Parts: sequence; C-alpha cells; structure tokens
Amino acid sequence: MIEIVERDRCIGCDLCIDVCPTRVFDRGPDGIPVITRQDDCQTCFQCEAYCPTDALFVAPLATAVAPGSRFHDVTGLEASGLLGGYRSELGWGRGRALGARTAVGPEYPD
Ligand code: SF4
Ligand code: SF4
Repeated sequence: MIEIVERDRCIGCDLCIDVCPTRVFDRGPDGIPVITRQDDCQTCFQCEAYCPTDALFVAPLATAVAPGSRFHDVTGLEASGLLGGYRSELGWGRGRALGARTAVGPEYPD
C-alpha cells in the first residue's frame, strides 16, 4: 500500500496521479501529490514504477502500516535503497539495467 510521497524529491510531474488506477492521489495546492484515498490503493506499484525521482514508496502489504513503522522512516528507506526500490528492480531510471535483462528466470527447453 502506498505509504510515502517524499516532498523533497517530488518535482510535481503528476505522473503518479495519472497512472494510479484507483485515483488514490489528489494534486496538492503546491503541486505535490497528496495520498487522499489510501484505502483504495491496490498495491500495484505503478506509481512507484513511474515516478522519475524515486519519491514514492509502496509497502508490500495489502493494508496500511501502523504509525511508527519502518515503512514510514524515509531516512531508513533511503539508506536501504527501498525508496523507489521497485522502480530500481525494474531497471527504470537513468543508468539502470533493465530488470528483464538481469532477472533470473526458469530454464525453458528448446
Ligand atoms: S500502488 Fe497502485 S493503486 Fe496504490 S497508489 Fe500506487 S498506483 Fe495507485
Ligand atoms: S510521479 Fe513522483 S515526482 Fe511526479 S508528482 Fe508523483 S511523486 Fe512527484
């Protein structure tokens, strides 16, 4: 479930608002998205995948985390590479190798 919009990273591009299938975000008065309908989040990671600045964090959980959770700790998430980590795994973003080229998958017979 979406947990974080990191204001210091956000450039107000609206991509997360546009790609979210359940309209979880509203555009705030300063252009920074606001999570206004968290309960509608499908944990689909699309917003995180599309965010060009790795400003979003979607926790791999179907329900919202409790206050004080490590999934609200921006500093910790940055240090562990989890802020925008899904996008990184996909290989989206400058200087990253596409995930499909690095994934280890099953061996298929010829
Ligand atoms: S994870 Fe999916 S449903 Fe949830 S806010 Fe992001 S785009 Fe919307
Ligand atoms: S996609 Fe990222 S940079 Fe763009 S508005 Fe959303 S949080 Fe901000």
